[in-house]
Amino acid sequence: SIAYLNGEFLPLEQARISPLDRGFLFGDGIYEVIPSYGGKLVGFGPHIDRMKEGLSLIEIGLDWDHQQWRDLCEQLCAKNGNGNLGVYLHVSRGADTKRYHAYPEGVQPTVFGFTFDIAEPPVADKTKAKAYKVSTTEDMRWRRCHIKSTALLGNVMHFQQGYAAGNNETILYNADKLVTEASACNVFMVKNGTVFTAPLDNQLLPGITRLMLLDVLKKYTDIPVKEEFFSLADLMAADEVWLTSSSKEVAPVTHVDGKAIGNGQIGAVWEKAQTAFEAHRYDY
Ligand code: PLP
Repeated sequence: SIAYLNGEFLPLEQARISPLDRGFLFGDGIYEVIPSYGGKLVGFGPHIDRMKEGLSLIEIGLDWDHQQWRDLCEQLCAKNGNGNLGVYLHVSRGADTKRYHAYPEGVQPTVFGFTFDIAEPPVADKTKAKAYKVSTTEDMRWRRCHIKSTALLGNVMHFQQGYAAGNNETILYNADKLVTEASACNVFMVKNGTVFTAPLDNQLLPGITRLMLLDVLKKYTDIPVKEEFFSLADLMAADEVWLTSSSKEVAPVTHVDGKAIGNGQIGAVWEKAQTAFEAHRYDY
């Protein structure tokens, strides 16, 4: 079949996208699927409205109007025989030269389209309609933050929130105002000499640095450690706040939402913790 990629129509099997494309690395993109029967699109206007709204919400600057999208869809359908087709449209933030959560500057969005065969349009005939059987379950999308999934758009958007405000990370809390983690780090606080971090559950990634730090603190220091949830208010009133990640190890945080933590200086417990971590970073 014939696909469209960044200004060109070409055989689908020849279409190539960089592995650095943020659609691949972060799930950083927007898509639509529009049915087309005999060259006639169903719901084209609202499909494109929704895609433009999505692009705008995640700040991908692609300014195609409805006519440009219609031309693309109609050409894709025509080149693929104008049968019963699903027209798949996908815009990602494009391929950056590095892997960094914040939205890159000066990167061209990737625009991809192809068609696939779909069934005949459904008909109002009880003898022909397919009867469906379904399951039910609690909506868990995306309350599976313990899975290190490449679907990182939520993380990327949270990182960007902090980045746009001139900060290096964004600490996240849940509906009960309990601190879970940050957009790409785990979060620790020190209060009255005790180190706290959220216990592992579906609300946070089981960070390897978190695991190593907890073990190092327990084995090689006399600093008490508690895996317990603490609130945003506790965080703001903490003596120290730290972030952990593989690249940062234990990173001291001095300001949260512009407010100083403790005396606004890097803390003494942090120094002990990072020292212990350094001494044992190759043990695991
Ligand atoms: N939490 C999130 C959401 C992350 O993406 C990461 C690292 O990428 C972390 C925590 C820290 O994990 P680790 O210490 O394994 O790097």
